Amino acid sequence: MAYDYDLFVIGGGSGGVRASRMAASHGARVAIAEEYGFGGTCVIRGCIPKKLFVYASEYGEGFEDAIGFGWTVPERHFDWNVLVGNKNKEIDRLEAIYKKNVTAAGVEIFMERAEFVDPHTIHLKKSDRTVTAKHILVATGGRPSRDMGPGCIGAEHAITSNEAFYLEKFPKRIIIAGGGYIAVEFANIFHGLGADVALVYRGNKILRGFDEDMRDCLTAEMTKKGIRIHCHRVFKKLDRRDGTIFAVTDHNEMLEADQLMLAIGRIPNTDGLGLEKAGVALGKRGKVLVDEYSKTNVDHIYAIGDVTDRVALTPVAIHEAMCFVKTVYEGKPTPVDHEGIPTAVFSQPEIGTVGLTEEEALKRGHAIDVYKSTFKPLKHTLSGRDLRSQFKLIVDAKTQKVLGCHIFTPDTAGEIAQIVGVAMKMGATKADFDSTIALHPSAAEELVTMRTKSYSKEP
Ligand code: FAD
Ligand code: NDP
Repeated sequence: MAYDYDLFVIGGGSGGVRASRMAASHGARVAIAEEYGFGGTCVIRGCIPKKLFVYASEYGEGFEDAIGFGWTVPERHFDWNVLVGNKNKEIDRLEAIYKKNVTAAGVEIFMERAEFVDPHTIHLKKSDRTVTAKHILVATGGRPSRDMGPGCIGAEHAITSNEAFYLEKFPKRIIIAGGGYIAVEFANIFHGLGADVALVYRGNKILRGFDEDMRDCLTAEMTKKGIRIHCHRVFKKLDRRDGTIFAVTDHNEMLEADQLMLAIGRIPNTDGLGLEKAGVALGKRGKVLVDEYSKTNVDHIYAIGDVTDRVALTPVAIHEAMCFVKTVYEGKPTPVDHEGIPTAVFSQPEIGTVGLTEEEALKRGHAIDVYKSTFKPLKHTLSGRDLRSQFKLIVDAKTQKVLGCHIFTPDTAGEIAQIVGVAMKMGATKADFDSTIALHPSAAEELVTMRTKSYSKEP
């Protein structure tokens, strides 16, 4: 049977854009549908605007730190609307570049919603057309969850990260619900921009799944700067009166703020996509179930990125896209590799991490040697800021391979984790780190100068 396209991609985010361009470069006839804007979450409502907000928020402490270096800092004033306006301009610019690159690759673009009609047929909503394709790639991403559980009423009064990027008025007081990446990053952003911030988390410590020391270091630093972290709590009622949010916790405490932001996870975008008409199996919370090649239970339908709820990071969606293209268009079946993904939490200070935590290493049966260094960053000897960095290496006791690297330090933790990830992919041992000459004075030199083991643990 002749199809209209070799490949139809639903979703023009990080994964979909990469897959469509690369498939087209192999001569495939490709079309892509995007209902909102090219670049997806990362470019429009995620990584990029978030990092721009992080930069903005760092100036708060930067001005304070400058005084110890001899600068006279005049009275400061922050204008939220200037930040949002400039951010919007940059995002518009990036969105246009993404779209241009897709067109230049020879991919046909449909700026509208796409839904399955049957396993090979897609309905384009706005133009009310149907098209057919030999292969279909679902790359529809995710959206913020508003599901605070049946015990909570009033979730409609809250905002999510989507709205936080476009608020008309800067919230002088904000409550953030959640303890993951987004909650922690936005708590630091709003605090750095001058807001009074409370973070309310259901667990015992923020950033579940991260190295325990990193979680402790960040909790201490956030608390020290005045971010109030309330653990073991969820909300049971939210109300908004005269512009103020009243939030009642399950401990019957009442918190008040100008905004309450939910950062309680994200849900795969499969509602109304018609996947049942194509026979595609879905898992928990509607995620598309796939194998290691990102193939669904239907042979010619694949899914990549956040919609599969595996590892929700931009470079991972891109990696999955590349594996899909190698598998389907290069004749080289390539499973995705989710081991050793470097990642950062863009808090202040940052966390940069790659490889296993102590707990994961022990769970996988490794006896481990742990090297840890805690120190005051050189910059803050003069700034007077009371802050400690921590660098940590987790080493396999038998092979001496570095299994995990966890870094807590201002500005550069993520940058360092990216590069350490290369050494770890190559199987670097502690001796390889030790034999590397330090770059001085830097924070990263700690990684090659830690000679004394802090402790060992058996699985
Ligand atoms: P998306 O980028 O979400 O793209 C999906 C696209 O599909 C969207 O454009 C959507 O409009 C479109 N779509 C959906 N349904 C349809 C349909 N039926 N028809 C047509 N189009 C449709 N990751 C990092 O690596 N680093 C970070 O610092 C980082 N920060 C983040 C900060 C925030 C606030 C958020 C929310 C996420 C962040 N992420 C970060 C995660 C990252 O943004 C995602 O993992 C990544 O964007 C996933 O890419 P994707 O292609 O799977 O989906
Ligand atoms: P996360 O999964 O990181 O965190 C969700 C948080 O919400 C957890 O603390 C979770 O608690 C809590 N939670 C879940 N459900 C409820 C509920 N019903 N009531 C109260 N609390 C709840 O998700 P995020 O939304 O922060 O971010 C989504 C993903 O986007 C991240 O996992 C990450 O992959 C990606 N991202 C990456 C960034 C980066 O690379 N710097 C930045 C931002 C996002 P518990 O821990 O108990 O489960």
